[in-house]
Amino acid sequence: MTSMANELRDLYQEVILDHSKKPRNFGELEEPTHDAKGHNPLCGDRLTLALVVKDGLIEDIRFLGAGCAISTASASMMTEALKGKSEQDAEALFGAFHGVVTGSAEDEDDELGKLAVFAGVRDYPVRVKCATLAWHTLRAALADKDEAISTE
Ligand code: ZN
Repeated sequence: MTSMANELRDLYQEVILDHSKKPRNFGELEEPTHDAKGHNPLCGDRLTLALVVKDGLIEDIRFLGAGCAISTASASMMTEALKGKSEQDAEALFGAFHGVVTGSAEDEDDELGKLAVFAGVRDYPVRVKCATLAWHTLRAALADKDEAISTE
């Protein structure tokens, strides 16, 4: 591994640490139009996601819950990335994110931006579930599924 790659990796870890310590969009959302609960039993991560979607646009999005640094940072960065986006954009971003963290995508997608920091979890199957929990919960919320989702 080159030193550049090491530097990038450290930088990525800093971004994840920052978001896990100071999660963005953390809290209750009054009068959500969509919500869902997610649980990752392998790690114990739990989160509740709430959205206000109007005319196909995600006007607001917040989350509550407790989990490991990866799951919290992922939820924080996901909410940051999705605010103001359309449901179709959210679905596309889910696909790009899923491809990067599972390693099924060859290259990192440019539209992922900072979310590409999670590419590092692809070698750790348990961590992949931590990183994708918020996204699976998002899909359940947008699909209006009432049952709590589980990564298992
Ligand atoms: Zn976790």
